[in-house]
Amino acid sequence: MPGGGQAGGEFSLIARYFTWPTPSADLGVGDDAALLRVAPGMQLAVSTDLLVEGTHFLAGTDPGRLGHKALAVNLSDMAAMGARPRWATLALSLPSADDRWLDAFSGGLRALAGRHGTELVGGDTTRGPLSLCVTILGEVPAGQALRRDGACAGDEVWVSGTLGDAAIGLALLTGARAPALDAAAAAACIERLEAPQPRVALGLALRGIASAALDVSDGFAADLGHILERSGVGACVEVARLPASAALAPFADDPAVREALLGGGDDYELCFTAPAAAAADVVRAAAQAGVLVTRVGRIVPGAGLALVDEDGRELPPARRGFDHFG
Ligand code: ADP
Ligand code: MG
Repeated sequence: MPGGGQAGGEFSLIARYFTWPTPSADLGVGDDAALLRVAPGMQLAVSTDLLVEGTHFLAGTDPGRLGHKALAVNLSDMAAMGARPRWATLALSLPSADDRWLDAFSGGLRALAGRHGTELVGGDTTRGPLSLCVTILGEVPAGQALRRDGACAGDEVWVSGTLGDAAIGLALLTGARAPALDAAAAAACIERLEAPQPRVALGLALRGIASAALDVSDGFAADLGHILERSGVGACVEVARLPASAALAPFADDPAVREALLGGGDDYELCFTAPAAAAADVVRAAAQAGVLVTRVGRIVPGAGLALVDEDGRELPPARRGFDHFG
């Protein structure tokens, strides 16, 4: 932290909350830089996500969940690349050094890191408005990463898990338009928002099967649009196939739910494409990863996303329940 008086506090804070065993690093927290060894034949996959209070999370969010989420969104990027997460750094700006907050925050981060074999090897800590920036480093066999630019006409479009829960969770917390969920369903949606589960095992299992992939952080339609642009293709998606959770399925006709399925961010599911002939491999990979996957459409020549009903008729904008694009 800046300001001479804080130096002792800063180092004991780092030692207390952010210095964990890092057996797979040659050198972890405590020097000017960490030293890491990438296995021969592997590419290093690197990604950063910055979470700022008031922009990416609500003030007063449970610190344990915040620690989880700061890492989860980065693990999700590794999942989307088919990379195995190995190491992370944490840049933290804190308004004050509150022990209870730091204990819960570092606990949430550490628990998720432990589950994914990811070691915290460095970072930076400063005083300022609350913001959390994790950089993650992962390994992927050279040439095998799941990129956004590999989708081909004829491929099928898949999505993991369920969509829209996080957006409805946010609507519930902010008092925006949301269906009348019971307490358990509401808690499930809020948990999706605050403690998303990155699909790391699925990303690894999809290597060699998926032709393109990304994680859904801005909303299904917008994120699939990135694959289409980078791959130079179009897609046709059957809206009724978009997977809804048990919490949201009873409200599938509610405009807020329709909009959340197509456009809600923060779900951190994987959207990916695969050749039609690989459908059985996709299902096997998903079963191996313990994740549900749903085939929602197909890649077509051309550009842009067409949304269709069960009979293949293109939906007019009014029936999309969504007009942020197209
Ligand atoms: P420097 O002055 O070289 O930037 P710092 O004093 O900021 O070093 O940090 C000391 C050590 O603690 C470094 O190894 C750094 O990577 C690590 N570190 C600082 N903040 C964090 C944090 N929030 N999480 C993990 N490691 C951290
Ligand atoms: Mg520093």
